[in-house]
Amino acid sequence: MAAAQAGTYDAIVVGGGHNGLVAAAYLARSGARTLVLEGRGKTGGAATTEAPWPEAPEFRVTRLSYVMSLLPPTIINDLDLARHGYKIWPMGPYYQAFPEGGSIKLYADDARRNHDEVSKWSKKDADAMPRWDAWLAGLADVLGPLLLTVPPNLGSHKPRDLRETLRLAWRNRGLDVRTIADVTRLMTMSIADLLDDWFESPQVKGALAVNGVIGTWAGPYEPGTAYVMAHHSIGDVGDGHLGNWGFQEGGMGAVSDAIAAAAIEHGAEIRLNAGVARILMENGRAVGVVLDNGDELRATVVVSTLHPRTAFLDQVGREHLPPDFAADIEHWKTRSGVVKINLALAELPDFTADPGSQLQEHHTGSVEMAPTMEYIERAFQDAREGRPAERPFSDGVIPTAFDKTLSPEGTHTMSLFTQWVPADWSEQPHTAELEAYTDRMIDCYNEVAPNFKASILHRDIVGPYQMEHEYGLIGGNIFHGELSLEQLFHMRPAPGYADYRTPVRGLYYGSSATHAGGGVCGIPGWQAARAAIADQKAARRPGGVRRLTRRS
Ligand SMILES: Cc1cc2nc3c(=O)[nH]c(=O)nc-3n(C[C@H](O)[C@H](O)[C@H](O)COP(=O)(O)OP(=O)(O)OC[C@H]3O[C@@H](n4cnc5c(N)ncnc54)[C@H](O)[C@@H]3O)c2cc1C
Repeated sequence: MAAAQAGTYDAIVVGGGHNGLVAAAYLARSGARTLVLEGRGKTGGAATTEAPWPEAPEFRVTRLSYVMSLLPPTIINDLDLARHGYKIWPMGPYYQAFPEGGSIKLYADDARRNHDEVSKWSKKDADAMPRWDAWLAGLADVLGPLLLTVPPNLGSHKPRDLRETLRLAWRNRGLDVRTIADVTRLMTMSIADLLDDWFESPQVKGALAVNGVIGTWAGPYEPGTAYVMAHHSIGDVGDGHLGNWGFQEGGMGAVSDAIAAAAIEHGAEIRLNAGVARILMENGRAVGVVLDNGDELRATVVVSTLHPRTAFLDQVGREHLPPDFAADIEHWKTRSGVVKINLALAELPDFTADPGSQLQEHHTGSVEMAPTMEYIERAFQDAREGRPAERPFSDGVIPTAFDKTLSPEGTHTMSLFTQWVPADWSEQPHTAELEAYTDRMIDCYNEVAPNFKASILHRDIVGPYQMEHEYGLIGGNIFHGELSLEQLFHMRPAPGYADYRTPVRGLYYGSSATHAGGGVCGIPGWQAARAAIADQKAARRPGGVRRLTRRS
């Protein structure tokens, strides 16, 4: 793209989270003079590694997100991320030790051992497990490719939109009645009802329900949670293992660092502590940004990766948006009730069911506190009734089982992704109540691993208020917006604007609130950059149409 004067760029990316960095890397790679503006003192957003204890800087935690699954090989390869430090340790099994005694391990790809483990609780469920795995794999074959598909503008009669809709239908022409029925079930059922159709043992159902409620303002009995389970089960960390999650060496911040290094190598500039106050608008189009300090920076293309309420309502302004679109963004659902608890441990948990604090296989995967669906549901109902969960649910991991870069020799860090506190806790810090909630969470683990409480050296609690105010995750939602049915695919972030374009000419949108987000998958950033690059190319073509905006 053309050389520019100081303060003028081909592309400005607002937000240096992993999606902003991916967008910047692709834009820079296309030759655009690209600037990333990040409000915090570091890049990464929710994919960040930090040292939260000033008195113990040798402990680093993956402070918010904690495991990789959905980053597509296309992005990993295009940006040569392995050379920039992208290195994944595949996770060990799912592990739950039960308060009443016993435990279960579930493996991503070991049917024989799964059969043995599940047989401990139900022979019938053990026999059903291979069919369940095959059923899920079949659905992943359908849903996986959709993650990389730009959603068509359903309902539009414009020839281009009709063409895209037909193309999607044609690509899926091989689907039969059964598969369509299965997808319909997945999209509409609760994870509890779905699992009841397949399994009988409360322990097995508890284990399989976890993925249905991760980051979701919904208990396992809410319709739509079956899809959340599928979203979290499709993953491919680039090794071809569907649904097999992994730990990035150096924590999730190292994923962001690898993408940032690729962006910089392609010529992008990244500016930290550069909060954007608003999008600069002229004659109805985006022409740059105004920083918090009042500086104006201009660009042909602006890509925002902030939460949709911030990006559109605060930074563009309703006066520049079609009323329907503004109303859709205003009604965007963005609750989670999630609390992230990071711990520094002197030793590994010594489970009564599987004794020993030396490193064992059950420490290497997810170390859960989700003994039954009823337990998980109770935690949600507490929060829905306005109280923090009495006995919270937790998806725990111990990345230092593999990764020796995060803590001193012999010690560990543990990440507890816990739910739920009331959705409106994003409005106030609730500091003392979060401490009490954390005590209760730790007590739950201590019941099954009696050395746990005493092994904790430091603890760090990040609640919904901090997620919103420090990280820009409005409402504390971990994905910039709930993965509820009305906010998926062509509805993400709003009907008519799911193709990473916006109602504002020159402004593109690539946060986790678009299709394929959330999660650390980079797809929104990649797609937003592709849309901008395609429109720029079209505009330069002789007689080319300047399709710099999504029409309403
Ligand atoms: C507790 C938690 C656990 C999670 N666990 C997982 C997990 O294990 N695996 C997984 O795949 N996903 C997980 N997620 C979800 C995942 O982390 C997010 O979906 C993803 O990181 C969002 O990336 P993003 O680039 O779209 O947005 P963000 O990461 O939110 O990036 C936006 C960036 O914009 C910056 N910003 C905000 N306002 C401004 C402004 N005015 N000016 C300039 N910059 C600004 C922010 O500082 C931030 O860096 C988790 C999220 C949370 C919160």
